[in-house]
Amino acid sequence: MLLETVIGLEIHAELKTNTKIFCSCSTEFGAKPNENTCPICLGIPGTLPVLNEEVINLAIKAGRAVNCSINNYNKMDRKNYFYPDLSKNYQTSQYELPMCVNGKVDFNYEGKEVSVRINRIHIEEDAGKLVHLEDEPVSLIDYNRAGVPLVEIVTEPDLRSPGEAAEFMRELKAILEYAEISDCRMDQGSIRCDANISVRPYGQEEYGTKVEIKNINSFREVQKALEKEEIRQKELYQYGEEYKIKQETRRWDAGKGKTLTMRSKGEAHDYRYFPEPDLTPIIIHDNKVESLEKLLPEMPIEKRARFVQEYGLSEKDASIIIGSKALAKFYEEVVNEGANPKTASNYILGDLLRLLNANNMEADDIKISPKNLVQLFNIIEEGKISNTAGKEVFKEIFKSDRPVLDIIEEKGLSQISCSHEIEKFVDEVLNNNPKSIEDFKAGKTQAIGFLMGQVMKASKGKANPLVAKQMIEKKLKNMLIYNDFYLF
Ligand code: ADP
Ligand code: ZN
Ligand code: MG
Repeated sequence: MLLETVIGLEIHAELKTNTKIFCSCSTEFGAKPNENTCPICLGIPGTLPVLNEEVINLAIKAGRAVNCSINNYNKMDRKNYFYPDLSKNYQTSQYELPMCVNGKVDFNYEGKEVSVRINRIHIEEDAGKLVHLEDEPVSLIDYNRAGVPLVEIVTEPDLRSPGEAAEFMRELKAILEYAEISDCRMDQGSIRCDANISVRPYGQEEYGTKVEIKNINSFREVQKALEKEEIRQKELYQYGEEYKIKQETRRWDAGKGKTLTMRSKGEAHDYRYFPEPDLTPIIIHDNKVESLEKLLPEMPIEKRARFVQEYGLSEKDASIIIGSKALAKFYEEVVNEGANPKTASNYILGDLLRLLNANNMEADDIKISPKNLVQLFNIIEEGKISNTAGKEVFKEIFKSDRPVLDIIEEKGLSQISCSHEIEKFVDEVLNNNPKSIEDFKAGKTQAIGFLMGQVMKASKGKANPLVAKQMIEKKLKNMLIYNDFYLF
């Protein structure tokens, strides 16, 4: 049976405000446990919330950034449930009147245009964090995060594969970053995703039973969790056991690489929603929306098109670069300093991303100054150092951003173009690799590449590759002519 996958996402993003949604406590990440708390965000009875206006402004910007209409009349509601990370015993959220509705996000996935409708965006407060101690029958609670403002962004079930869902999240993250709505630091939990997935026979209009997967905090994990759940559901269908797919919340266990039942999904009435009596309705005038909308910068989709057009990047390369605001900014600065756009993208997509990943860093943490990098490009271009040496210098400026000339001098990386010196390396390598010479004689020209690699290695990357290659080729050809008479 041909089955179609249906996915809808609910994304929580912490808003980039200095203070919490209903009190003046700081939202700074990394403070000591419970340092950023007060009677209001701790939910002490008798306290009263005051809504932070910046929360409304950022939510409106988020709405307009994804083409939503903004409701003029808004109110807050209480969502009641008991859990230790929520000391008020209710979350102040929005229920049937979310601030933003009916938006859409367009993006490119595997060469095709995808459009995902946004059902709603509402504002709410975050809960605290439970810290479970290993091997101890105790859990600790940190309320620093309680009362940090969030937007919850809910898509329609318009996504059709786990890969598409991950790409959507990348796009949404970029939008929120560009518009300075959220820091989107996945590593700090400032953007999180619940993913809903079901399958249905192709052509069937009605959706299948959906399962919600919680606890996912990276794009790669979102994709992996959805792929696993997709297989589980499709297998049940293949065996005619689709009735076993229950509407439930499953937890993604990244370590085990599978989803596990957490609880059966609650219904809205379980939360006993009612209007928040301690806050007045929020009236938003159209002119406020218009003036906030004017503050939105160039959005990722526009920047991508411009990078393709202006710098000749492929869609794919442009997508990766614009996927992070900081990376796109860095790229453009490097190009504006005079770098060849292609050289710049090669280095950024290759060495730079690799080093960032290896060091668990984000593009915001890049230390290299664009000027220094462009100088490195120029020196390589002029043939003063080899590409291999260039990569070594790059590693160094990635760490310290020291002037490239100092590094080249200190490490003695200037390229050797003198053929006498290069000949020493070439002869040494030919002497040590008789097998490659036999290969070459037998017609295997790949041997040249191998020998080149050895020469570059022997010269610590300093031999001018062009000179070295010509020399190897000449010597090998001579050997063919002299064949067995050649002695060296
Ligand atoms: P609930 O009432 O369970 O909260 P909603 O209709 O509000 O469900 O949708 C919550 C999320 O689940 C949305 O992101 C929506 O796109 C997604 N969703 C709804 N139905 C399905 C389905 N059959 N398959 C996959 N995702 C779905
Ligand atoms: Zn507080
Ligand atoms: Mg719902």
